[in-house]
Amino acid sequence: MPRDPVCGVILNEKTAKYKITHDGEKYYFCSVKCKKKFKRNRSKFADK
Ligand SMILES: [Zn+2]
Repeated sequence: MPRDPVCGVILNEKTAKYKITHDGEKYYFCSVKCKKKFKRNRSKFADK
């Protein structure tokens, strides 16, 4: 199950509405708020 990297909530990839692909990696978000936050601060959240 994917995890919202911003707030840590576990999401269902089939129903998650907010997602982006970053560096070939898929990220799922619980809300547009978290998605925006991630976009603004990718290096902080996309730590792989
Ligand atoms: Zn979230």
